Formats: sequence, structure tokens, C-alpha cells
Amino acid sequence: MSDSIDYKLFINGAWRLGGNGADLPLLNPATEHEFGRVAVASASDLDDALTSAQASQLQWSNTPAEERGALLIRAARILKGKIDLAAASLSTEQGKTLAEAKGEYARAVEMLEWNGAHAAKTSAPYPIDGKRIIVPEAIGVVAAFTPWNYPAVLNARKLGASIAAGCSVILKAAEETPSAGVYIIEALQEAGIPPGVVSLVFGSPPMISEHLLASPVVRALSFTGSTPIGKGLAKIAANNLQRCVLELGGHSPVLVFDDTNLLKAVSAISEYKFECAGQSCNAPSRILVARSIYEECLARLVRAAEKIRVGAPNDPTTDMGPMANARRIEAMERLTKDAVDRGAKVETGGRRIGRAGFYWAPTILSNVHPESQVLHEEPFGPILTVAPFDTIEEAIKEANASDYGLASYFFTDSLELRKRMVRSLSAGAISINHLKGVSADAPNTGIKQSGYGYEGGAEGVRAFQTLKLVNGG
Ligand code: NAD
Repeated sequence: MSDSIDYKLFINGAWRLGGNGADLPLLNPATEHEFGRVAVASASDLDDALTSAQASQLQWSNTPAEERGALLIRAARILKGKIDLAAASLSTEQGKTLAEAKGEYARAVEMLEWNGAHAAKTSAPYPIDGKRIIVPEAIGVVAAFTPWNYPAVLNARKLGASIAAGCSVILKAAEETPSAGVYIIEALQEAGIPPGVVSLVFGSPPMISEHLLASPVVRALSFTGSTPIGKGLAKIAANNLQRCVLELGGHSPVLVFDDTNLLKAVSAISEYKFECAGQSCNAPSRILVARSIYEECLARLVRAAEKIRVGAPNDPTTDMGPMANARRIEAMERLTKDAVDRGAKVETGGRRIGRAGFYWAPTILSNVHPESQVLHEEPFGPILTVAPFDTIEEAIKEANASDYGLASYFFTDSLELRKRMVRSLSAGAISINHLKGVSADAPNTGIKQSGYGYEGGAEGVRAFQTLKLVNGG
């Protein structure tokens, strides 16, 4: 092993360097300085991962579900004991604050625990009637691809569900944030996962996904990332008819009606919007406000954004760290310029902060032209657009105008309006009077360009199972 490689591949129960000796640099987004290296998988490393996943698959799916669940719960405990160390690494490589990184790891632990606690139930046969039963079976080897924004939660969710279902899984975690995959796999290893059941690879994303999906050994694919990449993977998966779970981001509206507690709404919006520098798939991005309270709401949102302390992620007084990479800064510059060129007003922010580090000021745009890119492209950063509405119909139309359909939020005290909004909003998840959504115990999905398939809850385990119908005599 070379000491200069900080994060290695995990294949067939052992850590290794990439077969070609290649590696990639790791960049600290707060300083733009290199702080480490991550190993790159070669084609033969991927073949080894496929061979060991296939070899372990049958034995793992025949392992009693209670044992699989107990292993996940042991791994969750081990990971819990390392949260401080793991969160420090995540914060350095991703740019989120230390407090956010710890919060994320707490949720990652919950993902492993929940899947562990429900492995037996989700794998148990159940009757249709006196003669027929359904036997849930592991679908086979899973290829999982996770991004850099919430690597701990997303790795834990995909690994937890596939391991609980009885699948072997090959995880390609984000090259820019490798430590979360390493900490979680180490916890699984320490908990006793058999060789081959989990593999961890990094490298060239298209090379790895094309290589893995070209193999008929892989029976399902789970991807979180952008819509164009997700669509490309679904096309490749069609060749071998691999089942897809695609979580492809969003452009979530928040509707603020005039009968709500405005202070509560503004504080919930700004708290969640600027978490992880706005790089959450279900972050609110389009705020639609009843005309009668529009000016006040806008002024309060601007004040809340200006109070956010942007700074080094390891400084405990920081509320928001840098963006994760230079691509996001370029996107913020492009989206802001395009909106301003079309007549938008920058109420606050709209600029990069400082010289080193990918810092972008919390930004609020008003008077945004409907054709502006920021209203159509997932902003994935600390940018909010705010606009007034005059009627409920107009609010619903605007909220549903996006091609995405991941999350929608609204604030109202009216029971009648709640029912109507739940019926009318096109999104996989709706939150009323708050902005929390994803949890280990509930299924989550996107609609429209936000993807398909479920993660979370029993449905998240079912995503990696076949329900075999057994007809009795
Ligand atoms: P991207 O879509 O290129 O990459 C997102 C993730 O997918 C990365 O971790 C990358 O390694 C992986 N990836 C890229 N190409 C792949 C391939 N061919 N096969 C397998 N994995 C692949 O984009 P990005 O520049 O990292 O982020 C840009 C956009 O992606 C964001 O603006 C946002 O819209 C979206 N995104 C969404 C989420 C989410 O949680 N839904 C997370 C990250 C990024």
C-alpha cells in the first residue's frame, strides 16, 4: 500500500490501490488546496468487484434476514462511535460545517439502524390467501452511485437497503468526498460483513458505470445525481433490463399563504435553504408569496439571509460554509447573471465572497423573468427566487411549472387549503408548515424529471427485491 493514498478501494473484503496505480487529488473547498489522494479503479478492479459480488450473492441472500439486520445494527453502532472523526473529514472535503456534518452522520446511523431493524420484516413471506404466498427475494447484485452533497446519508441509505434486502452491492461513491464511503464500509467490515457483499470503488464515473452496467451480473442500479446523468444510466441499464432507482434532484417551491405565521415560515425557509450551502436535492428554491404579505416576507427573507455567517466550515460560529466545488460557483455566477440580464433584482448576495475558497453569498432574487435559467435548472446552491401570487390557482400553477417534482412546501393555517394543496401539488413529498422531509422510515421518490423508484422505508428495501408469487396446490 502506498502511504500517499488516503482513500483506497474495497474489493473482495480487502482494501487496495487501483490496478493501474492511478489516483485523483482531493481539494479542500474552503482553501482550494489539495489535501489528499483517492485511488482510481481499473477495469480489472471492477471485474474483481463483479466476480466477488456474484460469488457472495447467493450465500448472502440465504443468510437469515435477522442476521443481516443484526450486522447492520452493529455497523450503525460502530459508525456512531466514530462520528466526530468522520464528520471532520466530511467537512474538510465537502465544505459543510462541522455541525452539519455531524448531523448528517447521525442520520446515516439512523439509515443503517432502520434497515437493520426491518430486515427480517421486509424479507418475510406473506400470504395473499390460504393457498398463495409472496416470497420476497433479493434481486441480485446492486450497483449504487452516490454524489458529493450528502455522501454519508446517501451511502448509508443505499447500502442499508440493499444489504437488508439480501443483495451484494458495489458502491461507486463520489470521488470528491470519498471518506464517508470508507468510514461506512469500515464499520460494515468491523461488524463482520462477508467478503464480496460490499465493494467500494472510485475513478472515472462514466467508465465505472458503463463497465458495471454492461455486466449481466448487476441486476439493479440506484443513482442519486443530476437528471441528464440519471437518464443516461437508465438508457444503459435498459440493455440488461436492470431495475433503476433514480433520485435526480429538484426545484422545490414554497407557497406562503397570508394566513400563516410569517416569522415561522421565514425562519424555516432560510434555515433549510442555506444548509449545506443550498446543495440539497430538496432544498427550497422558488418562494411564492401571497401578494398581501409579499413585501414583508421578502424583507424578512433578505434580513435572514444577511444574518447568515458565511465562513470556514470548521469555525463553530459559521452558519454556512463554501460550496463543494468550482462547478457550483460557475453555476451560481451563470444563473445570477442570466437572471439579472433578464431584469431580475438582486435583493442580497449575488456574488462570490473572498479570493480563496468556493464561497458564495446567500442570494435572493426578485422580479425574475419566467424564462430565466434559475427557474428551470436545479440551482443547487444558496440562491432563492421570490415572487408574489394573487390567487390560489396562480400559486398552484407556478409551483407546478417546474419540470422537477421532488418536494413542495407550503405554509397555511387553513385546513381546507391544506387538503387542496396536497391534492394539487405535483411532487413526491409535501411538507406543511415546515421543511423537513426525508427520513429512514418513510418512502421517498421524485416524479417528472426528479426520477422514479423509492428510497427509504420498507419500499426502499423492496426496490432491491423480487416478490415471488408462490401458488400452493
Ligand atoms: P453530475 O451529475 O455530473 O454528478 C453528480 C454525481 O454523479 C457525482 O457524484 C458524479 O460522480 C456522479 N456521476 C457523474 N457522471 C456519472 C456517470 N456517468 N455514471 C455514474 N455516476 C456519475 O454533476 P455535478 O457537477 O457533480 O453536480 C451537478 C448537478 O448534479 C447539480 O447541479 C445537481 O443538479 C445535481 N446533483 C443532484 C444531487 C441530488 O442529490 N439529487 C446530488 C449531486 C448533484
